[in-house]
Amino acid sequence: FAALVLLTSFLSVVAGQRLRPLPAAGLPGDLFGLGIASRLHTDLNSTARASTDFGQMVKAAPEAVFHPRTPADIAALIRFSASSPAPFPVAPRGQGHSWRGQSLAPGGVVVDMRSLGRGHRARINVSAAGAEPYVDAGGEQLWNDVLRATLKHGLAPRVWTDYLRLTVGGTLSNAGIGGQAFRHGPQIANVDELDVVTGTGEMVTCSRDMNSDLFLAALGGLGQFGVITRARIRLEPAPKRVHWVRLAYSDVAMFTKDQEFLISDQARQVGFNYVEGQVQLNRSFVEGPKSTPFFSTSDLNRLSRLASRAQSAAIYYIEGAMYYNEDTTASVDQKMEALLDQLSFEPGFVFTKDVTYVQFLDRVREEEKVLRSAGVWEVPHPWLNLFIPRSRILDFDTGVFKGLLRDANPAGIILMYPMNKDRWDNRMTAMTPTDDEEVFYAVSLLWSALSVDDVEQLEKANESVLDLCAQTGIECKQYLPHHTSQDGWQRYFGAKWGKVAELKAQYDPQAILSPGQKIFPSRA
Ligand code: FAD
Repeated sequence: FAALVLLTSFLSVVAGQRLRPLPAAGLPGDLFGLGIASRLHTDLNSTARASTDFGQMVKAAPEAVFHPRTPADIAALIRFSASSPAPFPVAPRGQGHSWRGQSLAPGGVVVDMRSLGRGHRARINVSAAGAEPYVDAGGEQLWNDVLRATLKHGLAPRVWTDYLRLTVGGTLSNAGIGGQAFRHGPQIANVDELDVVTGTGEMVTCSRDMNSDLFLAALGGLGQFGVITRARIRLEPAPKRVHWVRLAYSDVAMFTKDQEFLISDQARQVGFNYVEGQVQLNRSFVEGPKSTPFFSTSDLNRLSRLASRAQSAAIYYIEGAMYYNEDTTASVDQKMEALLDQLSFEPGFVFTKDVTYVQFLDRVREEEKVLRSAGVWEVPHPWLNLFIPRSRILDFDTGVFKGLLRDANPAGIILMYPMNKDRWDNRMTAMTPTDDEEVFYAVSLLWSALSVDDVEQLEKANESVLDLCAQTGIECKQYLPHHTSQDGWQRYFGAKWGKVAELKAQYDPQAILSPGQKIFPSRA
């Protein structure tokens, strides 16, 4: 019998075919008679791998994992579900780097988007000629690979997330923010065309001029309106090198004043190409790591002394980067000096690095390696990301960093940096805070839970932060949002809710897609 099994699998491999999978109890039997059936994996190994995500906060198994070879395969799967008397949920999964189960499909099918890129056809195509160069990248591609492909032409996308091992479709379904967003807006503002497979299984090309409803809906659309299988992304000439600085502050008002200056029209002409910021809570100097990929032990000792001297609850860093090429080294030095002269960081607390453009963009990879080797990368991540209106950022600081978290030292990092709203397109699904203010801050509490108790405590801390915002009228908006009730989602979308519901009814009438977001009750 064993010999027969071996022979059968040998013959099927020779024939270039997988054996048909065993039908899964929760899925219609007819699905396993379709031409795409051999790409469905129902074995426990496959479904277990797609049962959780980077956050490890939610676990829910799909009935099957689908490995498409082409966008048409995805269309066939969705069409089948949408027209079935028993539709089932379908969730595209990029890297599964969300943290609240957004890419899970309990009882349905997870589409392993990365399979699309494993075929023979190149799915990153650069168009370098012409005044407005662009790249067509498959929704499953990693930004890291997009970078490598575009650099061959001396070009690169203009806006980056801090971490590059995320998929194009995954970040465009949120917004894709980072230190370049103050200049160019989020990644979604730098896309000119998409191919989308809708929730009825239709394959649609869309842009600002063609099927614009779907284009605007899918960008920041949390996977609700379709699966992005290709994005046309604007490019700019890529620099070779980067002057990378961190400037330390003990006074939050000075820190935010300088950050806002750096993203202003005035500084944009001559200033940094990238502006972010971090908050380091005091206790982390004593209890946290003694060095980081950026700071040496002696840097951290100096910063720790600064924190004690200033009796501040935290030290704040502006992180800035200036791009340059070898032939402009002298002028970039002058430019940097002139810019730093206009800022009010603690005298002497400038930390600099000079790195290649790729080293700069891929910097979180270094942190990942350190965390992996310490065994603290694959742990639960109860992250909370908020957009805070500029007018309330100091109140937020007082309430959270000088209040709720004053004596805390959770493992992880805290980001805090401003962006300009005029770089966002409010017609897209992605949300920003109140319409009355031009500038808002991204504040990211990127916690790592090292024990079960940590998970509970960090969840409580996150709830306290949200409660504080509600009680003190700080109109915060979650980025990479997580709401557990439709009321929560309605409040989140505010005036946009009606439009979002209308577009959902049009493009995914059975509410099949990305059920892990929990926005629309699945009819499946
Ligand atoms: P997944 O987690 O697989 O999917 C996210 C959601 O999008 C799911 O609902 C899924 O169903 C849907 N989806 C996935 N692919 C598609 C597609 N092709 N079409 C339609 N819907 C799709 N974000 C930032 O903006 N800036 C940052 O600097 C940043 N840094 C990060 C650093 C780390 C270490 C991590 C883990 C995350 C970071 N993120 C950042 C968040 C990240 O952008 C989101 O978690 C994003 O969703 C991850 O992409 P992914 O490919 O893993 O998507």
